[in-house]
Amino acid sequence: MRRPAPPSSVSDRKREPPPGAVDFDAELSVLADSAAFYYRDREAAATGTTPGRLIGEAFERTAAIADAAERGASSKHVTACRKGCAWCCHQNVRASAAEVFYLARWLRVHLPADELQALSAHARDSAARLKSMPQPQRALARIACALLDPATGACRAHEARPMLCRGQLSLSAQTCQRAVESPGENRFEPLLEAIHGAGLASMSLELEFGFLGGGPVSGELTAMLAVALTDATAEARWSRGENPFPRHNEFSTHLNSRMARMLAAAWARLADERHEDAGETADVRAAAMKFLRETTGADESLH
Ligand code: SF4
Ligand code: SF4
Repeated sequence: MRRPAPPSSVSDRKREPPPGAVDFDAELSVLADSAAFYYRDREAAATGTTPGRLIGEAFERTAAIADAAERGASSKHVTACRKGCAWCCHQNVRASAAEVFYLARWLRVHLPADELQALSAHARDSAARLKSMPQPQRALARIACALLDPATGACRAHEARPMLCRGQLSLSAQTCQRAVESPGENRFEPLLEAIHGAGLASMSLELEFGFLGGGPVSGELTAMLAVALTDATAEARWSRGENPFPRHNEFSTHLNSRMARMLAAAWARLADERHEDAGETADVRAAAMKFLRETTGADESLH
């Protein structure tokens, strides 16, 4: 089977979207790249390159996508965001396994042992509190993230924070405060361009490492971090194809079907752009279907 062309940069294919609009062309290109990286990383892992190194490279590449979306939104709007304003760190954050293992490794390197131990205990307690709640209540629990430093209101792992944290931008701190203080009646209203770019970056990373852990793995950050920090075997088990995270922390299967649809569109676009020959296009489409089945379990047509 012919392998897909190596990923070219997103900016090569990017068209300028209207102000405020979601740039679907760029989104599809990012997802198409994640599919190509999936094959490259899987081959590298099979030849002994450690997933930790691959994850480090992929995290930095993907964080650049989320950070560019954040900078783009910041340059167009006057946001209320500043260091120490942390209402947005009181919500359930979705993260992929690769983000969580990257974060856990960063924390082990950068935090003193006593702080790391306290953080692990905090994450475990928060995860247990969330687990005891039914899902609708959990979504509105507004528990402070274990990584939030209560003394400064800053993130203790700013450099290694997950993608979706990078997309939290708001025009109004009062809106964020109301979402925490009266969660039943109010919600966070992040700037769409930033949060969309961050979600895309997270999804792309999840797909890129879909060959580990038995498929794409994501869930609530605190519950996953509690596992990554306290179970020394978790990352190795994930690398061997297990999902070491508790199933209850997963968000929904809706995401997988959205991923499948987005990927189908991304790969169809990739095939059209890069392979004019009909035979080559059929090969790329066949590779796309295989990728979809392997990563999402979906069996949708590429139309
Ligand atoms: S998103 Fe809201 S809570 Fe977070 S820094 Fe911005 S204004 Fe503050
Ligand atoms: S990881 Fe950092 S930025 Fe994200 S919710 Fe936690 S404290 Fe906030």
